Amino acid sequence: MTQMTCVAQQYVITIYEKNFLLGKINYESDNRFVKISDVYSGKVGTAMYLLEPTYEAFVNMSNAAKKEGVSLKIVSAGRNFQMQKGIWERKWNARRANFKSDEETALDILKFSSMPGTSRHHWGTDLDINSVDPVYFQSGKGKKELEWLELNAGKFGFCKTYNDKALQGRTGYSEEDWHWSFLPLSIGIMKQYTDAIELTDITGFLGSNTATKLNVIEVYVEGIATECTTLPLDYLFQDK
Ligand SMILES: [Zn+2]
Repeated sequence: MTQMTCVAQQYVITIYEKNFLLGKINYESDNRFVKISDVYSGKVGTAMYLLEPTYEAFVNMSNAAKKEGVSLKIVSAGRNFQMQKGIWERKWNARRANFKSDEETALDILKFSSMPGTSRHHWGTDLDINSVDPVYFQSGKGKKELEWLELNAGKFGFCKTYNDKALQGRTGYSEEDWHWSFLPLSIGIMKQYTDAIELTDITGFLGSNTATKLNVIEVYVEGIATECTTLPLDYLFQDK
């Protein structure tokens, strides 16, 4: 007989400071974060960090996948405010002249990239797996990896945050087959984020004047798949 166990009582509620929520942290010197080993990195040579429980869960998931012939590597993990500002401003400078307004420019970048201060990557709970090219997951190896994740990631606590918008009327970013969130941590952090962070906190980068008009917290930060707002049953009730 299979014995089932509910892991819910193992939770510890951690309170995160406002700077953490906004990504204003230094992963290298912050002992809540651990560095990703080359074994699990799809970007060997680039230092990448995650909150420790996120990393442990990923390692378990990647090892399980490997036994079934599926390779899962991290291509992006924790990205702090400064890193996100670099990504955002590079895109801003490349696009601004092509659009009539700041809002239109921001909306174009927001198809796939977050404004600094609003990214789930800040938290060390979210990571990108194997590729950030949508085409990669449509056939062959990438398709097989995505199918494995869709079937198994829930057992390890992971959820595909940005699913097909047409399915649920989700708002915000386009679908991202590569972006997975460790819900046992990110559900609580998301709650703290929406309680503590105001649109006026989203500032300090080119185009930040558009944050309030575009209502980026409600439309983008909260625009996640419904199934990523509660813990997966496969994770809560695991075979013992
Ligand atoms: Zn991502």
